[in-house]
Amino acid sequence: MRKKKFDLYTFVAGKALKSGKAFPLKCNCGGVVTILPPFEDEFVTCHKCESTIKILVIDGDPGYIYGEDSTGTILIPVQGSSAKPLSKDEQKKIIEDFEKNQKAI
Ligand SMILES: [Zn+2]
Repeated sequence: MRKKKFDLYTFVAGKALKSGKAFPLKCNCGGVVTILPPFEDEFVTCHKCESTIKILVIDGDPGYIYGEDSTGTILIPVQGSSAKPLSKDEQKKIIEDFEKNQKAI
């Protein structure tokens, strides 16, 4: 089996990297890595669990992006975004609308 290059992947708002302000990047283990723009590395390392976290930059400042897991459509939070976090109910509604639109196509 091929060795994984990164332990984790995370999405970061492009706007946060352009803002010039430091922001916290949360690891799955609860550890926090502070990102200091300009950020040009491909990944960061969590100081707590030593996972390598690959940074995937999303243009602009979206709060969430659509993703998929074994349960179906999910919303993946975009780190560094200034968008306000959504409640579980709000997320559910967005996913339902998204799935409805998918079926309409
Ligand atoms: Zn960690």
